[in-house]
Amino acid sequence: MPELPEVETIRRFLDRQVSGKRIEKVRFGAKRVTMHPGPTGVRRKLLGATVLGVDRRGKYLVFHLSNGRELVLHLGMSGQVRRFGRDPMHRHEHMRLEFSDGQTVSFVDARRFGRVCVIDGGVLPRPVRGMERLGPEPTEKGYSAAYLGAHLSGRKARVKSLLLDQRVACGVGNIYSDEALHRAGIRPNRQAGSLKPTEVCRLTEALGSVLKDGIRWCGTTMRDGGYVLVDGSAGSFQDRLRVYGREGEKCRRRGCQGVVRRQRVGGRSTHFCPVCQK
Ligand SMILES: [Zn+2]
Repeated sequence: MPELPEVETIRRFLDRQVSGKRIEKVRFGAKRVTMHPGPTGVRRKLLGATVLGVDRRGKYLVFHLSNGRELVLHLGMSGQVRRFGRDPMHRHEHMRLEFSDGQTVSFVDARRFGRVCVIDGGVLPRPVRGMERLGPEPTEKGYSAAYLGAHLSGRKARVKSLLLDQRVACGVGNIYSDEALHRAGIRPNRQAGSLKPTEVCRLTEALGSVLKDGIRWCGTTMRDGGYVLVDGSAGSFQDRLRVYGREGEKCRRRGCQGVVRRQRVGGRSTHFCPVCQK
């Protein structure tokens, strides 16, 4: 599932490529993803609008339009943004926008957990209502150890499970939570309330730095596919992961002789080093 660095990489591309351009054609594929207000309404609300800019909130992409509306895209588990030019519609392509300069942008999603919504203001439609419950992102200046600590203190839940809560660490998913816990030297299955203040500080710092590194290397593309860059190529942060997807391999912390182990924590496949994570 794309997390903050992957969605941010796509956002930067889109903001560069389609800002200032007019939507001249909207096409839909044969299979449907969740769409609000349905294909006819989406087409009517998008046609003729110019994209003013592309923002991101957590894992949601937000296109600001000249008609006052917003197009919101959530990539779900395996959604991709691609460019197919004027090719015939691809098998898993759900929506294609064609711009005034002939460029196209497509939303592709084989597993169909993604969502496409056009918002007019007012109450958010159900498919994107999760946007209202997002907390601050660990890359933001205001994200502090005090904020994270307040969400962890007194909690019996595993620290990893709480990091996946979008109110606690917005934009973080399975990969970056494992990597941040490794950088901070904390076992993913620790009870959140047992973390000492120094550990909460290390974790706050680690969350911010691992997400920024992820963005710098254009996100993580694992072997099972899913996230790719808009031109179909892979990100490169997977080569720099320290534990995630590295079960049985040597820990990448300098001087540590540990071997990465995988275990389920809160129902999610979790990677950690049993030697340097306490
Ligand atoms: Zn280690």
